[in-house]
Amino acid sequence: MDNLRVPGPTPLPDEVLKTINRQMINHRSPEFQQIQGSVITDLQKLFQTKNDVFLLTGSGTGGLEAGVVNTMSSGDKVLSVSIGVFGDRFGAIAKKFGAEVTPLSFEWGQAADPDEVAKALKAEPGIKTVLVTHNETSTGVTNDLKAISAVVKEADKLLVVDAISSLGSIDLPVDDWNIDIAITGSQKGWMVPPGLAMVSISQKGWQAFAEATMPRFYWDFGKAKSYLERGQTPWTPAVSVVYGLEISLKMMLKEGLTNIFARHARVAQAAREGIKSLGLPLFAEASHASNTVTSVAASEGLDTKKMLKIMREEEHVVIAGGQQKLDGKIFRLGHLGWVTEKDIEIVISALKKVLPRAGFKGG
Ligand SMILES: *Cc1c(COP(=O)(O)O)cnc(C)c1O
Repeated sequence: MDNLRVPGPTPLPDEVLKTINRQMINHRSPEFQQIQGSVITDLQKLFQTKNDVFLLTGSGTGGLEAGVVNTMSSGDKVLSVSIGVFGDRFGAIAKKFGAEVTPLSFEWGQAADPDEVAKALKAEPGIKTVLVTHNETSTGVTNDLKAISAVVKEADKLLVVDAISSLGSIDLPVDDWNIDIAITGSQKGWMVPPGLAMVSISQKGWQAFAEATMPRFYWDFGKAKSYLERGQTPWTPAVSVVYGLEISLKMMLKEGLTNIFARHARVAQAAREGIKSLGLPLFAEASHASNTVTSVAASEGLDTKKMLKIMREEEHVVIAGGQQKLDGKIFRLGHLGWVTEKDIEIVISALKKVLPRAGFKGG
């Protein structure tokens, strides 16, 4: 079997594989109500929040769209902080639905500077909402969300966060950091298949919801809340993924939040050290290197496409290339969810064999 080391989808533990095979149940039954109830309570613990949390059936991007259309109106001024592909996508969604988006972009590989966010908010007092990515999966950089939130809240703006590849893997105390909307996706750190976006919404988020007039039907948080009160979802949910999540969340709570975050930090450290030992440079700014995805700069003649192909076909190790303007320039190693140092050792020793065959002259 392949060693799947991309930043989502991520491998499933046996306990989850077993449970997602279960027979279907009626999603409007006491049985589903019980499962969803357990999932929501456990998600609140992992989000470190008392806010409402919903399961939305869709991919992470669906969750981002939901975050936009439930809090904004056409013409709203929005600051979109971006450090890569996913930050750009978040701003593009808001723009598509008619928001007046001011982009605040930083060089790919770098983190956002909270002082620049503060300056941008001062320069345009009409801004109502700030969009930001916690962990930018395309570059392997984790923003200092605590510091960014502090300046956003100082200016009393709504803060909507793409936490798709951080929540559940990297510490993100939603309530302590005043995150109004936090969005994650099932196939990242949660050890379940793709198919669910999980979102939280604060009191301030609900105030924005009450005024927001962007078109929404499928993603309506109002409907999500009223159905959740009856233990249901407005539309048929990805039942099998919910089964999986019930089990994976129990596993996560058993391990404990502190231990999960520490394991991701250790595994990421092993990944970075392993890469450096091969003579390859890390792409992300060292002080903000992500604990869920490591990005590596292609150098010394390395043909990343050739390397990825040999890794996949001969070593059965699947890692990711670069996206958009980073295509061919970097490759990425995902280490979130069900992962230990052992998985990283396998990747590093495979790379050691394959790199010289893919043109790499360094090391
Ligand atoms: C994976 C990811 C997305 C997109 O999620 P999909 O499930 O592919 O729609 C968005 N933002 C970040 C930070 C991600 O890692």
